[in-house]
Amino acid sequence: MSDKHLHVTIVGGGITGLSAAYYLQKWSREEGVPVSFTLLEESSRLGGKIQTWRHQGFTIELGADSFLERKTSASQLIKDVGLGDQLVHNHAGQAYIVHKDRLVSIPEGAVMGIPTKLLPFVWTPLVSPLGKLRAAADLVLPGGKPGEDQSVGHFFRRRLGDEVIENVIEPLISGVYGGDIDKLSLLSTFPQYAQMEQKYRSLILAMKNARPQAKPEQPKKPTGMFMTLKGGLQSLAERIEQLLPAEAVQKNTGVRQIEKRPEGYMLQLSDGRTLRTDAVLLAVPHPVAQELLRPYVDIPPLGGAKPTIMATVAMAYPAEAVPLDVEGTGFVVPRKANYTITACTWTHRKWPHTTPEGKALVRCYVGKPGHEEIVDRSDEEIVDVVIRDLKRVMKIGDTPDFYRVTRWNRGLPYMVGHQQWLRDVTAKVGAALPAVRLAGASYGGVGVPDCIDQGKRAMRELLDHLTQKPGN
Ligand SMILES: Cc1cc2nc3c(=O)[nH]c(=O)nc-3n(C[C@H](O)[C@H](O)[C@H](O)COP(=O)(O)OP(=O)(O)OC[C@H]3O[C@@H](n4cnc5c(N)ncnc54)[C@H](O)[C@@H]3O)c2cc1C
Repeated sequence: MSDKHLHVTIVGGGITGLSAAYYLQKWSREEGVPVSFTLLEESSRLGGKIQTWRHQGFTIELGADSFLERKTSASQLIKDVGLGDQLVHNHAGQAYIVHKDRLVSIPEGAVMGIPTKLLPFVWTPLVSPLGKLRAAADLVLPGGKPGEDQSVGHFFRRRLGDEVIENVIEPLISGVYGGDIDKLSLLSTFPQYAQMEQKYRSLILAMKNARPQAKPEQPKKPTGMFMTLKGGLQSLAERIEQLLPAEAVQKNTGVRQIEKRPEGYMLQLSDGRTLRTDAVLLAVPHPVAQELLRPYVDIPPLGGAKPTIMATVAMAYPAEAVPLDVEGTGFVVPRKANYTITACTWTHRKWPHTTPEGKALVRCYVGKPGHEEIVDRSDEEIVDVVIRDLKRVMKIGDTPDFYRVTRWNRGLPYMVGHQQWLRDVTAKVGAALPAVRLAGASYGGVGVPDCIDQGKRAMRELLDHLTQKPGN
Protein backbone atom coordinates (compact mmCIF):
# COMPACT_ATOMS: atom_id res chain seq x y z
CA MET A 1 0.00 0.00 0.00
CA SER A 2 1.20 3.57 -0.75
CA ASP A 3 2.12 5.86 2.20
CA LYS A 4 1.42 8.94 0.09
CA HIS A 5 -1.56 10.94 1.34
CA LEU A 6 -4.35 10.50 -1.17
CA HIS A 7 -7.34 12.67 -1.98
CA VAL A 8 -10.64 11.65 -3.56
CA THR A 9 -13.33 14.01 -4.84
CA ILE A 10 -16.97 13.03 -4.94
CA VAL A 11 -19.07 15.18 -7.25
CA GLY A 12 -22.77 15.19 -6.36
CA GLY A 13 -24.37 15.00 -2.92
CA GLY A 14 -27.35 12.78 -3.76
CA ILE A 15 -27.65 9.37 -2.13
CA THR A 16 -25.01 7.91 -4.49
CA GLY A 17 -22.36 10.48 -3.56
CA LEU A 18 -23.31 10.41 0.13
CA SER A 19 -23.03 6.61 0.36
CA ALA A 20 -19.67 6.75 -1.41
CA ALA A 21 -18.41 9.38 1.05
CA TYR A 22 -19.66 7.45 4.06
CA TYR A 23 -18.06 4.17 3.01
CA LEU A 24 -14.81 5.87 1.95
CA GLN A 25 -14.49 7.33 5.45
CA LYS A 26 -15.37 3.99 7.07
CA TRP A 27 -13.02 1.87 4.98
CA SER A 28 -10.08 4.28 5.12
CA ARG A 29 -10.31 4.21 8.93
CA GLU A 30 -10.73 0.45 9.13
CA GLU A 31 -7.95 -0.24 6.63
CA GLY A 32 -5.60 2.56 7.75
CA VAL A 33 -5.48 4.12 4.28
CA PRO A 34 -4.21 7.74 4.37
CA VAL A 35 -6.98 9.26 2.27
CA SER A 36 -9.00 12.45 2.63
CA PHE A 37 -11.91 13.51 0.47
CA THR A 38 -14.11 16.37 -0.63
CA LEU A 39 -17.80 16.08 -1.47
CA LEU A 40 -18.91 18.82 -3.85
CA GLU A 41 -22.62 19.58 -4.20
CA GLU A 42 -23.90 22.24 -6.53
CA SER A 43 -27.12 23.04 -4.66
CA SER A 44 -27.56 24.33 -1.12
CA ARG A 45 -28.65 20.93 0.26
CA LEU A 46 -27.58 17.30 0.28
CA GLY A 47 -29.92 14.46 -0.71
CA GLY A 48 -30.61 15.21 -4.39
CA LYS A 49 -33.86 13.44 -5.31
CA ILE A 50 -34.39 12.60 -1.65
CA GLN A 51 -36.06 15.59 -0.04
CA THR A 52 -38.37 15.64 2.97
CA TRP A 53 -40.56 18.57 3.97
CA ARG A 54 -41.50 18.63 7.64
CA HIS A 55 -44.44 20.98 7.93
CA GLN A 56 -47.27 21.46 10.44
CA GLY A 57 -46.63 18.03 11.96
CA PHE A 58 -46.57 16.25 8.56
CA THR A 59 -43.52 14.45 7.16
CA ILE A 60 -43.87 14.90 3.43
CA GLU A 61 -41.61 13.31 0.84
CA LEU A 62 -41.19 15.59 -2.14
CA GLY A 63 -39.11 13.06 -4.10
CA ALA A 64 -38.36 9.41 -3.25
CA ASP A 65 -40.56 8.18 -0.40
CA SER A 66 -39.27 4.69 0.42
CA PHE A 67 -37.18 1.76 -0.76
CA LEU A 68 -37.69 -1.94 -1.35
CA GLU A 69 -36.81 -3.91 1.78
CA ARG A 70 -35.45 -6.87 -0.16
CA LYS A 71 -32.69 -4.70 -1.65
CA THR A 72 -30.70 -4.70 1.56
CA SER A 73 -28.06 -2.01 0.96
CA ALA A 74 -30.38 0.81 2.07
CA SER A 75 -31.37 -0.72 5.41
CA GLN A 76 -27.73 -1.77 5.92
CA LEU A 77 -26.50 1.81 5.40
CA ILE A 78 -29.26 3.10 7.68
CA LYS A 79 -28.16 0.67 10.40
CA ASP A 80 -24.48 1.49 9.81
CA VAL A 81 -25.15 5.19 10.44
CA GLY A 82 -27.14 4.42 13.62
CA LEU A 83 -30.69 5.03 12.37
CA GLY A 84 -31.86 1.40 12.46
CA ASP A 85 -34.44 2.17 15.16
CA GLN A 86 -36.04 4.76 12.85
CA LEU A 87 -36.94 2.26 10.09
CA VAL A 88 -40.66 1.79 9.39
CA HIS A 89 -42.55 -0.48 6.99
CA ASN A 90 -45.41 0.67 4.84
CA HIS A 91 -48.90 -0.38 5.80
CA ALA A 92 -49.80 -3.06 3.25
CA GLY A 93 -53.15 -2.49 1.63
CA GLN A 94 -55.15 -3.02 -1.52
CA ALA A 95 -53.98 -0.99 -4.51
CA TYR A 96 -56.26 -0.01 -7.37
CA ILE A 97 -56.13 0.79 -11.06
CA VAL A 98 -58.41 3.36 -12.64
CA HIS A 99 -60.69 1.70 -15.17
CA LYS A 100 -63.66 3.49 -16.78
CA ASP A 101 -63.61 6.13 -13.99
CA ARG A 102 -63.74 3.49 -11.27
CA LEU A 103 -61.15 2.17 -8.85
CA VAL A 104 -60.69 -1.52 -9.63
CA SER A 105 -58.60 -3.75 -7.34
CA ILE A 106 -55.41 -5.13 -8.80
CA PRO A 107 -56.31 -8.83 -9.10
CA GLU A 108 -55.09 -10.88 -6.14
CA GLY A 109 -51.94 -12.77 -7.01
CA ALA A 110 -50.88 -10.38 -9.77
CA VAL A 111 -47.17 -9.75 -9.45
CA MET A 112 -46.19 -6.62 -11.37
CA GLY A 113 -49.47 -7.13 -13.20
CA ILE A 114 -48.75 -10.70 -14.27
CA PRO A 115 -51.51 -13.08 -13.19
CA THR A 116 -50.45 -15.99 -10.98
CA LYS A 117 -53.88 -16.91 -9.63
CA LEU A 118 -56.54 -17.96 -12.05
CA LEU A 119 -59.81 -16.96 -10.39
CA PRO A 120 -59.07 -13.32 -9.48
CA PHE A 121 -57.77 -12.81 -13.01
CA VAL A 122 -60.80 -14.45 -14.61
CA TRP A 123 -63.12 -12.12 -12.68
CA THR A 124 -61.23 -8.83 -12.97
CA PRO A 125 -63.03 -6.19 -15.07
CA LEU A 126 -59.65 -4.65 -15.95
CA VAL A 127 -59.25 -6.96 -18.94
CA SER A 128 -61.96 -8.05 -21.42
CA PRO A 129 -62.68 -11.78 -22.01
CA LEU A 130 -60.73 -11.57 -25.26
CA GLY A 131 -57.83 -9.87 -23.49
CA LYS A 132 -57.83 -12.66 -20.91
CA LEU A 133 -57.77 -15.31 -23.63
CA ARG A 134 -54.88 -13.52 -25.26
CA ALA A 135 -52.99 -13.40 -21.94
CA ALA A 136 -53.58 -17.15 -21.48
CA ALA A 137 -51.77 -17.71 -24.77
CA ASP A 138 -48.62 -17.08 -22.74
CA LEU A 139 -48.99 -20.67 -21.54
CA VAL A 140 -48.43 -22.04 -25.04
CA LEU A 141 -46.44 -19.36 -26.90
CA PRO A 142 -42.81 -20.22 -27.74
CA GLY A 143 -39.97 -18.44 -25.86
CA GLY A 144 -37.95 -15.54 -27.26
CA LYS A 145 -34.31 -15.39 -28.30
CA PRO A 146 -31.92 -15.51 -25.34
CA GLY A 147 -29.68 -12.57 -24.46
CA GLU A 148 -31.21 -9.96 -26.78
CA ASP A 149 -32.44 -6.71 -25.27
CA GLN A 150 -35.92 -5.54 -26.24
CA SER A 151 -38.39 -3.01 -24.94
CA VAL A 152 -40.48 -3.80 -21.87
CA GLY A 153 -43.56 -3.04 -23.97
CA HIS A 154 -42.58 -5.38 -26.78
CA PHE A 155 -41.76 -8.22 -24.39
CA PHE A 156 -44.99 -8.11 -22.38
CA ARG A 157 -47.15 -7.46 -25.44
CA ARG A 158 -45.63 -10.53 -27.10
CA ARG A 159 -46.28 -12.72 -24.06
CA LEU A 160 -49.57 -11.39 -22.65
CA GLY A 161 -51.12 -9.11 -25.28
CA ASP A 162 -51.86 -5.37 -25.47
CA GLU A 163 -54.72 -5.24 -23.02
CA VAL A 164 -52.96 -6.69 -20.01
CA ILE A 165 -49.96 -4.48 -20.54
CA GLU A 166 -51.92 -1.28 -21.12
CA ASN A 167 -54.51 -1.78 -18.40
CA VAL A 168 -52.47 -3.51 -15.70
CA ILE A 169 -48.71 -3.77 -16.21
CA GLU A 170 -47.87 -0.34 -17.68
CA PRO A 171 -49.46 1.75 -14.89
CA LEU A 172 -47.61 -0.33 -12.29
CA ILE A 173 -44.27 -0.06 -14.04
CA SER A 174 -44.37 3.58 -15.05
CA GLY A 175 -44.45 4.79 -11.44
CA VAL A 176 -41.01 3.27 -10.99
CA TYR A 177 -39.47 3.90 -14.41
CA GLY A 178 -40.49 7.05 -16.18
CA GLY A 179 -40.53 7.06 -19.94
CA ASP A 180 -42.22 5.10 -22.65
CA ILE A 181 -42.47 1.35 -21.95
CA ASP A 182 -42.13 0.70 -25.67
CA LYS A 183 -38.59 2.11 -25.50
CA LEU A 184 -37.59 1.06 -22.00
CA SER A 185 -34.89 -1.65 -21.84
CA LEU A 186 -36.13 -4.97 -20.48
CA LEU A 187 -32.64 -6.17 -19.55
CA SER A 188 -31.88 -3.00 -17.57
CA THR A 189 -35.19 -2.74 -15.74
CA PHE A 190 -36.78 -6.20 -15.39
CA PRO A 191 -34.09 -8.75 -16.37
CA GLN A 192 -35.78 -11.33 -14.14
CA TYR A 193 -38.68 -11.61 -16.61
CA ALA A 194 -36.31 -12.27 -19.51
CA GLN A 195 -34.66 -14.99 -17.38
CA MET A 196 -38.05 -16.46 -16.46
CA GLU A 197 -38.98 -16.73 -20.11
CA GLN A 198 -35.72 -18.49 -20.86
CA LYS A 199 -36.19 -20.93 -17.98
CA TYR A 200 -39.94 -21.61 -18.05
CA ARG A 201 -40.99 -20.20 -21.46
CA SER A 202 -44.35 -19.10 -19.97
CA LEU A 203 -44.33 -16.10 -17.61
CA ILE A 204 -47.54 -17.23 -15.88
CA LEU A 205 -46.02 -20.64 -15.08
CA ALA A 206 -42.76 -19.02 -14.01
CA MET A 207 -44.49 -16.61 -11.64
CA LYS A 208 -46.58 -19.43 -10.15
CA ASN A 209 -43.41 -21.40 -9.47
CA ALA A 210 -41.60 -18.37 -8.04
CA ARG A 211 -44.34 -17.44 -5.57
CA PRO A 212 -43.83 -18.91 -2.10
CA GLN A 213 -46.77 -21.15 -1.25
CA ALA A 214 -48.77 -19.40 1.48
CA LYS A 215 -49.02 -21.41 4.68
CA PRO A 216 -52.64 -21.12 5.82
CA GLU A 217 -51.79 -21.19 9.52
CA GLN A 218 -49.58 -18.10 9.22
CA PRO A 219 -51.37 -14.75 9.72
CA LYS A 220 -51.11 -12.31 6.82
CA LYS A 221 -48.26 -9.84 7.30
CA PRO A 222 -49.75 -6.42 8.06
CA THR A 223 -46.66 -4.64 6.77
CA GLY A 224 -45.63 -4.17 3.17
CA MET A 225 -42.39 -4.61 1.30
CA PHE A 226 -41.25 -0.99 1.43
CA MET A 227 -39.40 0.84 4.16
CA THR A 228 -38.59 4.42 5.05
CA LEU A 229 -37.41 6.44 8.04
CA LYS A 230 -39.78 7.93 10.63
CA GLY A 231 -38.33 11.39 10.12
CA GLY A 232 -38.36 11.02 6.34
CA LEU A 233 -35.72 9.68 3.97
CA GLN A 234 -33.85 12.95 4.21
CA SER A 235 -32.85 11.93 7.77
CA LEU A 236 -30.39 9.56 6.11
CA ALA A 237 -28.73 12.38 4.16
CA GLU A 238 -28.71 14.54 7.28
CA ARG A 239 -27.12 11.82 9.40
CA ILE A 240 -24.40 11.06 6.84
CA GLU A 241 -23.64 14.79 6.64
CA GLN A 242 -23.23 14.89 10.45
CA LEU A 243 -20.83 11.95 10.31
CA LEU A 244 -18.58 13.46 7.62
CA PRO A 245 -15.89 16.03 8.49
CA ALA A 246 -17.44 19.51 8.06
CA GLU A 247 -14.55 20.72 5.91
CA ALA A 248 -15.03 17.77 3.50
CA VAL A 249 -18.57 18.77 2.51
CA GLN A 250 -18.85 21.79 0.24
CA LYS A 251 -22.39 22.78 -0.73
CA ASN A 252 -23.19 25.50 -3.27
CA THR A 253 -20.11 24.30 -5.13
CA GLY A 254 -20.51 22.84 -8.61
CA VAL A 255 -17.79 21.31 -10.74
CA ARG A 256 -17.39 23.02 -14.10
CA GLN A 257 -14.40 21.25 -15.63
CA ILE A 258 -12.13 18.28 -15.07
CA GLU A 259 -8.57 18.43 -16.34
CA LYS A 260 -6.29 15.43 -16.45
CA ARG A 261 -2.79 16.16 -15.10
CA PRO A 262 0.26 13.88 -14.97
CA GLU A 263 -0.15 13.69 -11.18
CA GLY A 264 -3.93 13.37 -10.98
CA TYR A 265 -6.84 15.66 -11.82
CA MET A 266 -7.55 19.37 -11.48
CA LEU A 267 -11.18 20.43 -11.00
CA GLN A 268 -12.50 23.89 -11.84
CA LEU A 269 -15.20 24.87 -9.36
CA SER A 270 -18.19 27.16 -9.83
CA ASP A 271 -16.80 29.72 -7.36
CA GLY A 272 -13.57 30.08 -9.36
CA ARG A 273 -11.41 27.89 -7.13
CA THR A 274 -9.51 24.84 -8.33
CA LEU A 275 -9.12 21.52 -6.53
CA ARG A 276 -6.32 19.01 -7.10
CA THR A 277 -7.30 15.43 -6.50
CA ASP A 278 -6.13 11.87 -7.15
CA ALA A 279 -9.47 10.35 -8.06
CA VAL A 280 -12.98 11.49 -8.96
CA LEU A 281 -16.36 9.86 -8.47
CA LEU A 282 -18.98 11.50 -10.66
CA ALA A 283 -22.26 10.87 -8.82
CA VAL A 284 -24.23 13.31 -10.98
CA PRO A 285 -26.90 12.77 -13.63
CA HIS A 286 -25.44 11.51 -16.90
CA PRO A 287 -25.77 14.73 -18.96
CA VAL A 288 -23.60 16.53 -16.37
CA ALA A 289 -20.95 13.78 -16.44
CA GLN A 290 -21.08 13.79 -20.22
CA GLU A 291 -20.25 17.51 -20.35
CA LEU A 292 -17.48 17.25 -17.75
CA LEU A 293 -15.77 14.37 -19.56
CA ARG A 294 -16.29 15.65 -23.10
CA PRO A 295 -12.63 16.70 -23.64
CA TYR A 296 -11.49 13.11 -22.97
CA VAL A 297 -14.40 10.78 -23.68
CA ASP A 298 -17.23 11.10 -26.12
CA ILE A 299 -20.27 9.56 -24.50
CA PRO A 300 -23.37 9.85 -26.66
CA PRO A 301 -26.69 9.32 -24.90
CA LEU A 302 -28.73 6.46 -26.29
CA GLY A 303 -30.59 7.59 -29.40
CA GLY A 304 -34.03 9.05 -28.94
CA ALA A 305 -33.91 9.27 -25.15
CA LYS A 306 -35.64 12.28 -23.66
CA PRO A 307 -35.39 13.10 -19.95
CA THR A 308 -38.47 12.24 -17.91
CA ILE A 309 -40.00 15.39 -16.48
CA MET A 310 -42.61 14.98 -13.76
CA ALA A 311 -43.93 16.53 -10.57
CA THR A 312 -45.14 15.30 -7.22
CA VAL A 313 -48.16 17.03 -5.72
CA ALA A 314 -48.64 16.66 -1.96
CA MET A 315 -51.93 17.92 -0.50
CA ALA A 316 -52.86 18.06 3.19
CA TYR A 317 -56.53 17.97 4.24
CA PRO A 318 -58.65 17.55 7.35
CA ALA A 319 -59.46 13.80 7.49
CA GLU A 320 -63.17 14.41 6.87
CA ALA A 321 -62.40 16.08 3.52
CA VAL A 322 -61.04 12.76 2.20
CA PRO A 323 -63.78 10.24 3.12
CA LEU A 324 -62.41 7.16 1.38
CA ASP A 325 -65.08 4.50 0.92
CA VAL A 326 -62.63 1.74 0.02
CA GLU A 327 -59.80 0.05 1.91
CA GLY A 328 -56.30 0.43 0.59
CA THR A 329 -53.44 2.82 0.02
CA GLY A 330 -53.90 4.34 -3.42
CA PHE A 331 -54.16 3.80 -7.14
CA VAL A 332 -52.38 4.08 -10.46
CA VAL A 333 -53.77 5.32 -13.78
CA PRO A 334 -53.17 3.69 -17.17
CA ARG A 335 -51.44 6.00 -19.61
CA LYS A 336 -54.20 5.81 -22.21
CA ALA A 337 -56.88 6.86 -19.68
CA ASN A 338 -57.89 10.47 -20.09
CA TYR A 339 -56.32 11.63 -16.82
CA THR A 340 -53.43 13.93 -16.00
CA ILE A 341 -52.41 12.20 -12.78
CA THR A 342 -50.49 8.96 -13.18
CA ALA A 343 -50.69 7.75 -9.57
CA CYS A 344 -52.13 8.70 -6.21
CA THR A 345 -51.08 7.53 -2.74
CA TRP A 346 -53.29 7.93 0.32
CA THR A 347 -50.15 8.58 2.29
CA HIS A 348 -51.90 8.82 5.67
CA ARG A 349 -52.91 5.19 5.17
CA LYS A 350 -49.74 3.82 3.58
CA TRP A 351 -47.40 5.67 5.96
CA PRO A 352 -49.51 6.61 9.03
CA HIS A 353 -46.48 8.12 10.82
CA THR A 354 -46.35 10.94 8.25
CA THR A 355 -49.70 12.50 9.12
CA PRO A 356 -51.04 14.03 12.36
CA GLU A 357 -54.26 12.63 13.89
CA GLY A 358 -57.39 13.94 12.23
CA LYS A 359 -55.59 14.81 8.97
CA ALA A 360 -55.15 13.23 5.56
CA LEU A 361 -52.22 13.43 3.16
CA VAL A 362 -52.73 12.73 -0.54
CA ARG A 363 -49.74 12.54 -2.90
CA CYS A 364 -50.09 12.42 -6.67
CA TYR A 365 -47.75 12.20 -9.66
CA VAL A 366 -48.21 14.14 -12.88
CA GLY A 367 -46.18 14.12 -16.13
CA LYS A 368 -46.82 11.04 -18.27
CA PRO A 369 -44.75 10.55 -21.45
CA GLY A 370 -45.97 12.91 -24.16
CA HIS A 371 -47.92 15.08 -21.68
CA GLU A 372 -45.07 16.67 -19.75
CA GLU A 373 -46.29 20.21 -20.47
CA ILE A 374 -48.48 20.00 -17.36
CA VAL A 375 -45.29 20.30 -15.30
CA ASP A 376 -44.64 23.81 -16.71
CA ARG A 377 -47.98 25.15 -15.48
CA SER A 378 -48.30 27.10 -12.24
CA ASP A 379 -48.63 25.24 -8.95
CA GLU A 380 -52.25 26.43 -8.61
CA GLU A 381 -53.19 25.14 -12.06
CA ILE A 382 -51.54 21.77 -11.41
CA VAL A 383 -53.37 21.38 -8.08
CA ASP A 384 -56.70 22.29 -9.75
CA VAL A 385 -56.19 19.67 -12.46
CA VAL A 386 -55.14 17.06 -9.88
CA ILE A 387 -58.21 17.66 -7.70
CA ARG A 388 -60.47 17.53 -10.75
CA ASP A 389 -58.95 14.16 -11.71
CA LEU A 390 -59.26 12.81 -8.17
CA LYS A 391 -62.93 13.76 -8.00
CA ARG A 392 -63.66 11.37 -10.87
CA VAL A 393 -62.79 8.38 -8.67
CA MET A 394 -62.97 9.48 -5.02
CA LYS A 395 -64.41 12.12 -2.74
CA ILE A 396 -62.04 14.97 -1.89
CA GLY A 397 -62.40 18.59 -0.78
CA ASP A 398 -61.87 21.50 -3.19
CA THR A 399 -59.28 23.27 -1.08
CA PRO A 400 -56.44 21.53 0.73
CA ASP A 401 -55.15 23.06 3.99
CA PHE A 402 -51.88 23.39 2.11
CA TYR A 403 -50.10 21.79 -0.83
CA ARG A 404 -46.67 21.54 -2.35
CA VAL A 405 -45.76 20.88 -5.97
CA THR A 406 -42.23 19.66 -6.67
CA ARG A 407 -40.90 19.39 -10.22
CA TRP A 408 -38.26 16.77 -11.04
CA ASN A 409 -36.14 15.85 -13.97
CA ARG A 410 -35.77 12.10 -13.47
CA GLY A 411 -33.11 11.97 -16.17
CA LEU A 412 -32.88 9.74 -19.20
CA PRO A 413 -34.85 6.52 -19.05
CA TYR A 414 -33.02 3.23 -19.60
CA MET A 415 -33.53 2.67 -23.32
CA VAL A 416 -33.21 -0.63 -25.17
CA GLY A 417 -29.44 -1.28 -25.43
CA HIS A 418 -28.70 0.44 -22.10
CA GLN A 419 -26.49 -2.37 -20.83
CA GLN A 420 -24.27 -2.36 -23.91
CA TRP A 421 -24.13 1.45 -23.73
CA LEU A 422 -23.08 1.20 -20.07
CA ARG A 423 -20.35 -1.32 -20.88
CA ASP A 424 -19.04 0.98 -23.66
CA VAL A 425 -19.13 4.05 -21.41
CA THR A 426 -17.37 2.25 -18.55
CA ALA A 427 -14.65 0.96 -20.87
CA LYS A 428 -14.10 4.36 -22.51
CA VAL A 429 -13.90 6.24 -19.22
CA GLY A 430 -11.62 3.57 -17.71
CA ALA A 431 -9.23 3.79 -20.67
CA ALA A 432 -9.08 7.59 -20.83
CA LEU A 433 -9.33 8.47 -17.12
CA PRO A 434 -8.31 5.50 -14.96
CA ALA A 435 -9.13 7.15 -11.60
CA VAL A 436 -12.58 8.44 -12.60
CA ARG A 437 -15.78 6.49 -11.99
CA LEU A 438 -19.43 7.15 -12.84
CA ALA A 439 -22.22 6.04 -10.53
CA GLY A 440 -25.84 6.76 -9.78
CA ALA A 441 -29.34 6.69 -11.13
CA SER A 442 -28.29 7.19 -14.77
CA TYR A 443 -26.38 3.94 -14.87
CA GLY A 444 -26.99 0.83 -12.78
CA GLY A 445 -30.52 1.20 -11.37
CA VAL A 446 -32.71 4.09 -10.24
CA GLY A 447 -33.89 2.86 -6.83
CA VAL A 448 -32.32 4.29 -3.70
CA PRO A 449 -30.70 0.91 -2.82
CA ASP A 450 -29.33 0.60 -6.39
CA CYS A 451 -27.74 4.03 -6.04
CA ILE A 452 -26.24 3.11 -2.65
CA ASP A 453 -24.81 -0.10 -4.15
CA GLN A 454 -23.28 1.84 -7.02
CA GLY A 455 -21.76 4.56 -4.83
CA LYS A 456 -20.28 1.94 -2.55
CA ARG A 457 -18.95 -0.22 -5.39
CA ALA A 458 -17.43 2.69 -7.31
CA MET A 459 -15.71 3.94 -4.15
CA ARG A 460 -14.30 0.47 -3.43
CA GLU A 461 -12.90 0.36 -6.96
CA LEU A 462 -11.31 3.80 -6.63
CA LEU A 463 -9.80 2.98 -3.27
CA ASP A 464 -8.36 -0.29 -4.59
CA HIS A 465 -7.08 1.50 -7.68
CA LEU A 466 -5.34 4.20 -5.63
CA THR A 467 -3.78 1.84 -3.13
CA GLN A 468 -2.54 -0.87 -5.46
CA LYS A 469 1.24 -1.32 -5.55
CA PRO A 470 2.97 -0.12 -8.75
CA GLY A 471 3.05 -3.01 -11.19
CA ASN A 472 -0.18 -4.58 -9.83
C1 LIG B 1 -40.29 11.96 -7.68
C2 LIG B 1 -39.36 10.80 -7.48
C3 LIG B 1 -39.78 9.74 -6.71
C4 LIG B 1 -38.92 8.67 -6.50
N1 LIG B 1 -39.35 7.66 -5.70
C5 LIG B 1 -38.47 6.68 -5.38
C6 LIG B 1 -38.83 5.74 -4.38
O1 LIG B 1 -39.89 5.81 -3.75
N2 LIG B 1 -37.95 4.74 -4.10
C7 LIG B 1 -36.73 4.65 -4.73
O2 LIG B 1 -35.96 3.73 -4.43
N3 LIG B 1 -36.35 5.57 -5.67
C8 LIG B 1 -37.19 6.58 -5.98
N4 LIG B 1 -36.81 7.53 -6.89
C9 LIG B 1 -35.49 7.42 -7.52
C10 LIG B 1 -34.36 7.87 -6.58
O3 LIG B 1 -34.83 8.85 -5.70
C11 LIG B 1 -33.19 8.44 -7.37
O4 LIG B 1 -32.85 7.58 -8.45
C12 LIG B 1 -31.95 8.61 -6.50
O5 LIG B 1 -32.26 9.35 -5.33
C13 LIG B 1 -30.86 9.31 -7.31
O6 LIG B 1 -29.71 9.50 -6.52
P1 LIG B 1 -28.35 10.03 -7.16
O7 LIG B 1 -27.44 10.36 -6.03
O8 LIG B 1 -27.84 9.05 -8.16
O9 LIG B 1 -28.73 11.34 -7.99
P2 LIG B 1 -29.36 12.72 -7.50
O10 LIG B 1 -30.25 12.52 -6.35
O11 LIG B 1 -29.90 13.33 -8.74
O12 LIG B 1 -28.10 13.54 -6.99
C14 LIG B 1 -27.17 14.15 -7.85
C15 LIG B 1 -26.63 15.40 -7.17
O13 LIG B 1 -25.62 15.98 -7.99
C16 LIG B 1 -25.71 17.40 -7.88
N5 LIG B 1 -25.01 17.99 -9.04
C17 LIG B 1 -25.45 18.06 -10.33
N6 LIG B 1 -24.51 18.66 -11.08
C18 LIG B 1 -23.47 18.94 -10.29
C19 LIG B 1 -22.19 19.55 -10.51
N7 LIG B 1 -21.79 19.98 -11.71
N8 LIG B 1 -21.35 19.69 -9.45
C20 LIG B 1 -21.72 19.25 -8.21
N9 LIG B 1 -22.93 18.69 -7.95
C21 LIG B 1 -23.78 18.53 -8.98
C22 LIG B 1 -27.21 17.64 -7.85
O14 LIG B 1 -27.50 18.91 -7.31
C23 LIG B 1 -27.70 16.48 -6.96
O15 LIG B 1 -27.76 16.83 -5.60
C24 LIG B 1 -37.64 8.64 -7.11
C25 LIG B 1 -37.22 9.71 -7.90
C26 LIG B 1 -38.06 10.79 -8.08
C27 LIG B 1 -37.59 11.95 -8.90
